[in-house]
Amino acid sequence: MSVQHITVLGATGSVGASTLDVVARHPDRYRVFALTANQRVDELAALCRRFVPAHAVLGTAADAARLRELLAGLPVEISHGQQALADVASADPVDAVMAAIVGAAGLAPTLAAARRGKRILLANKESLVMAGELFMAACREAGAVVLPIDSEHNAVFQCLPPAAQSRQAALAAGGVRRILLTASGGPFRRLTLDQMRAVSPDDACAHPNWRMGRKISVDSATMMNKGLEVIEAHHLFGLPSQRLEVVVHPQSVIHSLVEYLDGSMLAQLGNPDMRTPIAHALAYPERVDSGVAPLDLFRVAQLDFEPPDTRRFPSLRLAREALDAGGGAACVLNAANEIAVAAFLDRRIGFTQIADLVEHVMQSLAGAPGCASIDAAIALDAEARSLAGQGVVARAA
Ligand code: NAD
Ligand code: MG
Repeated sequence: MSVQHITVLGATGSVGASTLDVVARHPDRYRVFALTANQRVDELAALCRRFVPAHAVLGTAADAARLRELLAGLPVEISHGQQALADVASADPVDAVMAAIVGAAGLAPTLAAARRGKRILLANKESLVMAGELFMAACREAGAVVLPIDSEHNAVFQCLPPAAQSRQAALAAGGVRRILLTASGGPFRRLTLDQMRAVSPDDACAHPNWRMGRKISVDSATMMNKGLEVIEAHHLFGLPSQRLEVVVHPQSVIHSLVEYLDGSMLAQLGNPDMRTPIAHALAYPERVDSGVAPLDLFRVAQLDFEPPDTRRFPSLRLAREALDAGGGAACVLNAANEIAVAAFLDRRIGFTQIADLVEHVMQSLAGAPGCASIDAAIALDAEARSLAGQGVVARAA
């Protein structure tokens, strides 16, 4: 077994931490080639001391200089900015890239890795939502294998016939009828729309089953996360919107299901801990210990299911509309949502205004063409962000 060299994009985040936890359990299998972070210099310094990567990347020159001071004497090459991210994601020694930057900022470095045929461990769903066709085409052309990290998509991957895992268009031949993505329903599953108007950022980030970064936590509370995941599943597995079902399952024990023509339904179960999908993708097709405790079915005792309510959670409807509209609609949805979520976290708009704002920007940019290049995707993303920003000002006033 040869050692795999790993770049972790977004090493200081929640997925980054879980990745490094698994990596540290298997020093014989994995070596860290590069670690990146946006602003958290001290946290990145601590990780560099522990894993001694060949490279570390931060957002700005000033932060990179501070990291150099902190790490004086250690053989870590330190750089900053977008090009440096793309470089450490696509460098020759790299075998696999954990794409765990949050938001559209993850697209360019992940695409750079895909174009060099790296194994992509994809947590950054926003890059698929923003430019799924472009991204998947780049992977196909370069022979890059994409292993989903999002727990639902990782579960689906595990339940698919092997031929469909490596050749995503093979689902029909494999007899797949539908994919069912499970959703916890988030912290506001039982709230009325009126009650949701008064919730705070901390309420929204108190997810019942998962500890995650703040952006995805808010997305889970609005259920935009599940909407983004429907689009993500469409790109990863090639099924149309009507064959991608969402099932609210509050226990988050079944991570998703695949339904076959003969009536079989395959599910993947486990404790809600990202180290399971991460370990699966790191070791695929082998299996390694992830540090996650086995699921105790007697403690779980009961599994509940209910249909999603798109009246109280309009973001889920908006994401489906964006997928059905095609073109640049999903890129617009994603960008507007990032701005709206940031504004909510800054207490500039209320919780229910997130979906209002996204819908408003989608209507304003209806018919936007699909993103044929990364520049086109970044331009459309910027246009939608600017409109959403104006919408925030109008609503905050
Ligand atoms: P997080 O906020 O905890 O961490 C984000 C990481 O990205 C940090 O290391 C940060 O430094 C880096 N980053 C942020 N903005 C950046 C920028 N502009 N340029 C470069 N780096 C930047 O987020 P997270 O919860 O770990 O989520 C990461 C991704 O994984 C998201 O796309 C999320 O949707 C996805 N995901 C997360 C979970 C989870 O359990 N946390 C589950 C499924 C999918
Ligand atoms: Mg998920």
